[in-house]
Amino acid sequence: MTSTSPPTPPVTRHPMVGFEHVDLRFPNGTHALHDVSLQVREGEFVSVVGPSGCGKSTLLRLAAGLESITDGYLQCGADRIGYVFQDATLLPWRTVEDNAALLAELDGVGKRERRGRAAEALSLVGLDGFGKHLPHMLSGGMRMRVSLARSLTVDPQLFLFDEPFAALDEITRQRLGQELTELFSRKTFAGLFITHSVSEAVYLSSRVLVMSGRPGTIVDEFEVPFDYPRTPDLRFDRSFTDLTERVSVALREAHS
Ligand code: ADP
Repeated sequence: MTSTSPPTPPVTRHPMVGFEHVDLRFPNGTHALHDVSLQVREGEFVSVVGPSGCGKSTLLRLAAGLESITDGYLQCGADRIGYVFQDATLLPWRTVEDNAALLAELDGVGKRERRGRAAEALSLVGLDGFGKHLPHMLSGGMRMRVSLARSLTVDPQLFLFDEPFAALDEITRQRLGQELTELFSRKTFAGLFITHSVSEAVYLSSRVLVMSGRPGTIVDEFEVPFDYPRTPDLRFDRSFTDLTERVSVALREAHS
């Protein structure tokens, strides 16, 4: 008689944010989002691609609780949320370490503890030794690293990214993208990343969602099979370029 082992139960990964049939119409009548359903679970890094004005930033603001839906259902399972924007939004009179410690300070964390958190976060983003610098002494890429570090001090369960690398030159953008995949594999946050760039979305994500024009809705979805952290060479891999092409075609079809 052969013995069969019981099936392994599926790993339950908690949703960090879930949209179900969400609609958002602004008070001025602009219909920004229509019937949006998406989930980002623990351990997932999800990117959303779509053209300007299709409602990508609005999605993030909803996830952060900064905007209200007009229909549907929205659930956020994360207590601690990180949020980075295209602009690093550093306070110019504060040193790098004091900028990195800002959110912890606003949370009422004591000075010693927040200094420690800021130092650890700055180290994670490769800015050891720059704590006493002022923002104007840094390059655009370094300022973005400080912005990432500032959010890391709250140990986010959900990390929202609103085109954080869009204003950077291509080399810096790719380097920061690669570092972000390292960070993602070392930390435990779930990521929701907004971008115009299909290759950036595929490079960073475990899943890519394609949005239609306004009112934005999710029209296609692609699983990304590559392991983390990702290497720069991945961009030249045939399976990477094939997937990028498929996402690009879906994006083009969504807007034709
Ligand atoms: P994206 O990030 O894809 O470029 P947004 O989410 O910023 O798009 O905006 C989606 C649409 O909603 C745009 O047409 C924008 O002008 C509009 N919009 C954004 N915020 C508001 C607001 N507070 N009131 C009215 N319209 C808005």
